[in-house]
Amino acid sequence: MWDELNRNGLKWSLDDVDYLMICAGTVEVETIARHLKRTVSAIVNKASELEISLIVRKCKYEHLMTQRPNGRWRCNVCHSIGERIRRNDVRNKT
Ligand SMILES: [Zn+2]
Repeated sequence: MWDELNRNGLKWSLDDVDYLMICAGTVEVETIARHLKRTVSAIVNKASELEISLIVRKCKYEHLMTQRPNGRWRCNVCHSIGERIRRNDVRNKT
């Protein structure tokens, strides 16, 4: 009986774990906790058990950043704006 329960007395369903895995790193832990109706510390405990990071990074414009396969963090919004500016610059010069 007891081993079915986590420290907060709530069993984690596969859907809950899936949600956590998908959202970790892109959704703030408070939001995840609210969605799963759990405490922040329950989310933190579970994340460390699953060895996933809950750190959410934002660029200076508060956009969500994503980690590239090479380990570097990039803001896709700023990156695509930068690409557009670069393209326009090339066009304007010709
Ligand atoms: Zn940005």
